[in-house]
Amino acid sequence: MVVGVIVNSTAKVLNRVFDYIVPKDLEEKIKIGDRVSIPFGNSKKLQEGFIYEIKQESEFAVKEIVSIEKDGLNEEGMKLAKLMSRMYFCNIFDCIKLMLPPGTSTKIVENRIKDKKGNFVYLNKDIEEIEQEIADGVIKSPKQIRVLEFLKDNEGVYISDLEMYTDTSKAIIKTLEKNEYIQIVEENIDRNPFILKDVPRDKKLPLNEEQFKAFEEVNKSIEDKEFKEFLLYGVTGSGKTEVYLQLIEKVLEKGKTAIMLVPEISLTPQMVNRFLARFGNCIAVLHSKLSIGERYDAYKKIKNGEIKIVIGARSAIFAPVKNIGILIIDEEHDSSYKSEMNPRYNAKDIARYICKSNNAPLLLGSATPDLNTFYNAKNEKIELLTLTKRANSSNLPDVEIVDLREELAKGNKSMISEKLKTYVEENLKNKKQTILFLNRRGFSTFVMCRNCGFTAKCKNCNITLTYHKNTNKLKCHYCGFETKNITVCPICGSKNVRYFGAGTQKLEEEVHKMFPECNTIRMDVDTVTKKNSHEEILEKFKNENIDILIGTQMVVKGHHFPNVTLVGVIAADSSLNIEDFRAGERTFQILTQVAGRAGREQLPGKVVVQTYNKDNYSIEFAKEQNYDLFYNAEIMMRKSLNYPPFCDIIQFSINSKSDLDVKKVAKYIYNELKKEFNIIKNNILIFEPVPAPIDKIKNNYRWRILVKCRFNNRVIDLINNVLERYYKKNFKNTRLIIDVNPNNMM
Ligand code: ADP
Ligand code: ZN
Ligand code: ZN
Repeated sequence: MVVGVIVNSTAKVLNRVFDYIVPKDLEEKIKIGDRVSIPFGNSKKLQEGFIYEIKQESEFAVKEIVSIEKDGLNEEGMKLAKLMSRMYFCNIFDCIKLMLPPGTSTKIVENRIKDKKGNFVYLNKDIEEIEQEIADGVIKSPKQIRVLEFLKDNEGVYISDLEMYTDTSKAIIKTLEKNEYIQIVEENIDRNPFILKDVPRDKKLPLNEEQFKAFEEVNKSIEDKEFKEFLLYGVTGSGKTEVYLQLIEKVLEKGKTAIMLVPEISLTPQMVNRFLARFGNCIAVLHSKLSIGERYDAYKKIKNGEIKIVIGARSAIFAPVKNIGILIIDEEHDSSYKSEMNPRYNAKDIARYICKSNNAPLLLGSATPDLNTFYNAKNEKIELLTLTKRANSSNLPDVEIVDLREELAKGNKSMISEKLKTYVEENLKNKKQTILFLNRRGFSTFVMCRNCGFTAKCKNCNITLTYHKNTNKLKCHYCGFETKNITVCPICGSKNVRYFGAGTQKLEEEVHKMFPECNTIRMDVDTVTKKNSHEEILEKFKNENIDILIGTQMVVKGHHFPNVTLVGVIAADSSLNIEDFRAGERTFQILTQVAGRAGREQLPGKVVVQTYNKDNYSIEFAKEQNYDLFYNAEIMMRKSLNYPPFCDIIQFSINSKSDLDVKKVAKYIYNELKKEFNIIKNNILIFEPVPAPIDKIKNNYRWRILVKCRFNNRVIDLINNVLERYYKKNFKNTRLIIDVNPNNMM
């Protein structure tokens, strides 16, 4: 008997199946998906591989499988890995790894960490860049490579664990730190905010009419054991979670299991407690703050059936639950469900696949559905379930728009309009809390010489530097580069250097000037550190009665602050003026979500949106909080410009440290694509290679080719043909990344 084996290797050319002979004594036992030890290449050490296929014979098989190891995949898992590798254009092994127990490409030892503080290790460079350096032989030491590869899947590992799993020493790790590949951070060891405590049990609420109808529809699909996709569309507070809870209860009654995906940022103790109160401890919460040991424990419990409900962010979709009865994706429009790292998978696609093979319903939920999802719902590819009212009958907040052009004409140059100022004052007087939202951090967004027009840019990236007042430094938000602030223009020597644009730091300063008595707390990437989690900041805001929370995107999601009655959006335009066809959709989503933070209980809420684009439809319909009107306007725009959902966008990014190579390879790919797609003539648009909007990041030149077409099996095959030829060419110093419907087009 002969088997085809996938070998653990990150080199793309090795995405190949190697044939091995199965010794007689293993023939009975061996199955597709099994993890095996094999001799490979010239290495004396045995390597790890996974059984891809079982064959009768092969002329290439000369070496034998040595042993079958524990913790492999099953046939289903291997099938999914194959499929993912093909449609996300990545290494099969990288897909397999998503499904393995955490921390196990080598053996895991379940030791408990006892001391209170410890050193944790993080990557300090993009993994793709590191992989390229490994492929190019820049990093040679096998030990260093082991460490980097381990970190790729296990960032934030405890330093002693890292040593143990990779069989290396502190010295190796320190060298990597010195060479800036990794970062060692001292952190509290007890980092898990979801310690399973005994939460008092609660009972299910009697559903209102709309909730009941939604529940019944999905329940039918559970009863009939048939795959069906649903969209539960309802404003924040309309009782979606209550419907999820009751559906999960049904599924458990049938002896089945459930997975619920939520954006990492909405994975709050409040949310988890609702599940604990309903179901007790048969829940696993998978989130980024778990240590490998904790993750491993959860994996084991899921696998042996102790856990019935898995709640987690994107990668929880790969949790090894058996017998799935329902899969729920809450806040389905959230961009975090699409991985921005290799494999660039979309958890929604994976969810659909899993539900189909389990004959179970897939339930998507949102107040502001993804445009594609809503389009499919309108076209009856997905069944639409609607909740129109807030379940606890609190009212939607009043949204008022302030035209910043008028404000400027009145001579108000402050970041806070007259109207917003009045409302904040009122709130301070009444001891109510306020959230001010601004999607830009730092103090000033750029520094410019008024004399010659020089702007301070990052030396590694083609991006303007942001002024940070507390450190008096200019900082690059892409690569972290920092430099001393300038007061004299380095080009013309003029002292007429000015700061333009404003970020959260400046806003905080203005707030203090305007309201000297108030106390504020700021939440952005600069204040949220590994030590000072966003959870802690929010708890502080809530419990210590801080008057004003100032923050970026992070303040927008999921949280419930009963005492917040006013939300101010300082510049609604900041997400509107980006070069992305989804700018309008993102703006609408953000504004609606921010508005949802105000007045969630009995207190009425107010929202003030400041903008220079009063008449833009995203802003106008966000004011009315009318998703349907927004959808109608947006879908017409998408149709006329042929954007998703009317086509898919496939982005080929080519990155290189050399500006010549990047162009050369981009041209090559472009020509190959043209050749390959020649047979489809219609309905396909291949754009010529151009520099990306941000054409240099961290000293990497960035070019890209966009292809607009339907992303179907035919297209996947054609692209894979191009890829095969590309890898054979073995271009040095360049990286190719293919991303389908990418989140980030910059
Ligand atoms: P969503 O998930 O849509 O934001 P939730 O399920 O969190 O909505 O419901 C919002 C609030 O309304 C919660 O406090 C919840 O307990 C309450 N609620 C939900 N459904 C009902 C119901 N049928 N009867 C009474 N209160 C409800
Ligand atoms: Zn100058
Ligand atoms: Zn930079």
